[in-house]
Amino acid sequence: MNVELLIESSDPLLHPGELYPDSSPELIARQSWLTPHLYDAASDRLVICMQSFLLRSAGKIILVDTCVGDCKQRPRPEFDGAVWNWLERLEQSGVSPEEVDVVLSTHLHVDHIGWNTRLVDGKWRPTFPNARYLFVDKEYEYWSSDAGRVALQRTGDYVADSVTPIFEAGLADIVDFDHRIDDALRLIPTPGHTPGHVCVEIDSEGKKAIITGDLLHHPLQCRFPDWSTRFCFDAHQARQTRLAFMKQHAHEGTLLFPAHFPSPTAGYLRLVQDEAELRYRYEFVDE
Ligand SMILES: [Zn+2]
Repeated sequence: MNVELLIESSDPLLHPGELYPDSSPELIARQSWLTPHLYDAASDRLVICMQSFLLRSAGKIILVDTCVGDCKQRPRPEFDGAVWNWLERLEQSGVSPEEVDVVLSTHLHVDHIGWNTRLVDGKWRPTFPNARYLFVDKEYEYWSSDAGRVALQRTGDYVADSVTPIFEAGLADIVDFDHRIDDALRLIPTPGHTPGHVCVEIDSEGKKAIITGDLLHHPLQCRFPDWSTRFCFDAHQARQTRLAFMKQHAHEGTLLFPAHFPSPTAGYLRLVQDEAELRYRYEFVDE
């Protein structure tokens, strides 16, 4: 199955310390392999890609993650009121919004739900009017709870403009944590970054690949697999989930598509033999 990447943006965005509390300027300065593709030294920011994954499976068109979106009011200046040409990219790949059958977010964070809706005549309406939007039960329950509402204050209430309108339009389906979309696609529960975070496993024509969402945010996390982010709901659980996943898929040689890794995004985890510490290298591949 071909995985098509629909990039919304790919720019230096976050200071290393803003994302990874365990990092330090000294440690970053020693990672010369990061520059310039993965880290912009001048602004001291990690390059973060926002993108969706377009899949064609069993005669259906499936979108995994929907980026930041247009015209959303957000506290982060890079996102606030931003207008991207992401819809044009979708059209360039030969797909109109009306043709999308399934929309899934790996988790309900501000940068994974944006294109669920767009502003039409002053109202947030579903961008994909003929799609079923899948929401993992655990994830939706959390963001609808009192604790979830409090957590939304950091990033702005994106549930109100990008999730609730989907339910109001009757296009939402609540699914299990380990839901199977079709014979080739299933969700893998990977909690920690958020309570109901999932990866999407593609198993087709004898080949496996996994869209990993925010299980990993940046290739730096392969070098330092213990590092959870400031944005993780449960840093300890995120670490446990990540370490187990990395061990298994480095061993099995699974092709990965981490949400925010810059182009070409796809790649393999390689275990680096080092007695002093556990670490991996990310080997990008242009597939
Ligand atoms: Zn993200």
